[in-house]
Parts: sequence; C-alpha cells; structure tokens
Amino acid sequence: MDYIVQNLNEINKEITEIAKNVDRQPEDAKLLAVSKTKPVEDIQAAYDAGQRMFGENRIQELEVKVDQLPSDIEWHLIGHLQGNKAVKAVKLAAYIHSVDSVKLLNRLERLAGENGTKPKILLEINVSGEASKFGMEEEAEVLEFAKAAVACQHLELVGLMTMAPFGADDNELRSVFAGLRKLRDKIEQEFNVTLPELSMGMSSDYKIAIEEGSTMVRIGTAIFGKRN
Ligand SMILES: *Cc1c(COP(=O)(O)O)cnc(C)c1O
Repeated sequence: MDYIVQNLNEINKEITEIAKNVDRQPEDAKLLAVSKTKPVEDIQAAYDAGQRMFGENRIQELEVKVDQLPSDIEWHLIGHLQGNKAVKAVKLAAYIHSVDSVKLLNRLERLAGENGTKPKILLEINVSGEASKFGMEEEAEVLEFAKAAVACQHLELVGLMTMAPFGADDNELRSVFAGLRKLRDKIEQEFNVTLPELSMGMSSDYKIAIEEGSTMVRIGTAIFGKRN
C-alpha cells in the first residue's frame, strides 16, 4: 500500500503548488480522501500517513468503517442520501455534502435536533456549464433553498457542493466551478452569512477547481486507484 502514501504526498504537493500559483493559502484547499468501495486497510494506510478527512457515499459502508477505524477521523458523506438513511447520517457524518432538496434538509434538521448533534452541511447544487443557463428561476429556487438552510437550528450550513458534468471540457469545468463560487457569494450577501466551504473538484479536475476557489477537493481514484 505504499502507492497510497506516495499518491497522497504527490497530491498534497500539487494542491500546495496550485494554490500558491493563484495566491491562495494552501491550507484553504483541503484534501478529502474519497474512500468509497475501498477496504479499511487502505484507509488506515492513508490515516497513518496523516490523512484525517475521508469521504464515503453510502451510509451502510460508512457505518462499518466508522466502527473499524480510528475515532478521530472526520467523516464526510458525499453521496445522495435517501430519507430513510438520514438518521444514521446525522449520527455518523461530521459533514453532509449532498443535501439536495428542501425535503431532505427538513428531515435532517428534525433528526439532528432529536439526536442532539449539529452536522455541518453543504447544499448540492447543479450548475450548468453555460453561465447563461443558470436562469433567474433556478437562482430564485437556490436562494429559497439557501434561506431554508440558513434558518436551520440543528444544522450548520458551511457551503455549497457541486459535481461537474461528466465529460465536460476545461472551459465548461471552469465555468461550472466559477458558477458555484458566484452563487456562494450571492447567498452570503443575500442572507448576511459566511459560507467558507466550496466542495468541488475530483481526481480529474481538481486543479481547475482549486483555481476557481475550491476549499475541499474530493479525490478518490488518484489516491486509492481505480474502483471496481
Ligand atoms: C466518487 C466520488 C468522488 C471521487 O471521484 P474520483 O474521480 O475517484 O476522484 C468525488 N465526489 C463524489 C460525490 C463522488 O461520488
């Protein structure tokens, strides 16, 4: 499992360089190691090399791994969350990146209240490649969503998350990532809140994401190798 440590070192170095090149603080671009489908041994190897933030996309898998791995790991849920799994999510995850509807938001708010936890959440937003396509209607909808999230007592809204469209070219990626950043700025202004986190960028596009302001790059394959 030496390759995991090697990959981690290389990516951390890359992140630092990319950030410096655009005058950002390297520590503001955090590496979330996406360990979905990978065995606990792989995660332990990354942990032993100093990695503490890990991302999973399935609750059942997260549950097993939380049990078997060190308790100071910060677990991030990044995959679509079904309503019936929400109760486990508020117990197990420090961050939920994939809050994608008002309905899920309300459910999480209620369950976190009952559970006495206060998970950090990010709103998952679908940003289209062409900036012009993010019409008024969609923006109004996102602002409504954000308004509901800001009002939550038991969830801490920390930012926005997006997945770039599959197969997008560099120009499109840049405009998607910049679009999410602008949306974040707009929400901050509109509701007088601070949203420090932009969760964007994966193995193949994290460079552009950091250049456009990503604070959390979600990287799986480039650390742990291909998934089956
Ligand atoms: C799997 C996954 C990633 C990591 O993708 P890689 O291409 O392996 O780096 C990032 N974000 C989400 C939401 C994922 O499901």
